[in-house]
Amino acid sequence: MHRIRVYQGDITQLAVDAIVNAANSALNGGGGVDGAIHRAAGPQLMEACLTLNGCPTGQVKMTHGFELPARYVLHAVGPIWQGGDHGEADLLASCYRNAMTMAAAEQFQSIAFPAISCGVYRFPPDQAVDIAVRETVKALASNENLEDVVFCCFDEAMAERYRQKLHVPQGGSEGEGSA
Ligand code: ADP
Repeated sequence: MHRIRVYQGDITQLAVDAIVNAANSALNGGGGVDGAIHRAAGPQLMEACLTLNGCPTGQVKMTHGFELPARYVLHAVGPIWQGGDHGEADLLASCYRNAMTMAAAEQFQSIAFPAISCGVYRFPPDQAVDIAVRETVKALASNENLEDVVFCCFDEAMAERYRQKLHVPQGGSEGEGSA
């Protein structure tokens, strides 16, 4: 059965088939979730990323997870918010679509997403949550293998946005939902 859940905490702790990274287009690390993933995965992750020749916005490239509990990292490059009329919504949707396509191709059973573009890239969080949920639900409809989709949020306010969108009872630190 397909499950979508909200988890509040650090994505680097999750033992899933793949965690998604909110990367930059150079794939050369940075702050936020990207920095946390590189610290937890160890230096081999940077070596692997630097062989990939970067990644265009909206696209996704895969590496191993190295020292992470997750087997793989899907490096998704979200758009920088520039007011909304620069294709930001389509580019963010494309990140989720491409990650879900990759998960299907690799027959992953579990995947965890951070709130791509919602940190230093300043994407409006409510709109980002709508896009994230819409695209993952759509992709799940044609993926029988993927059993566990986790929206991993560092902070409570973001987790609550996902819970509301997914109709998960308020206040739980983890839950199931459907949209
Ligand atoms: P972007 O550059 O795409 O905006 P950020 O890393 O700045 O990426 O932020 C994306 C989201 O990831 C933010 O909501 C931020 O709170 C969250 N975040 C930061 N660190 C972690 C972490 N270790 N695990 C899960 N989410 C995190």
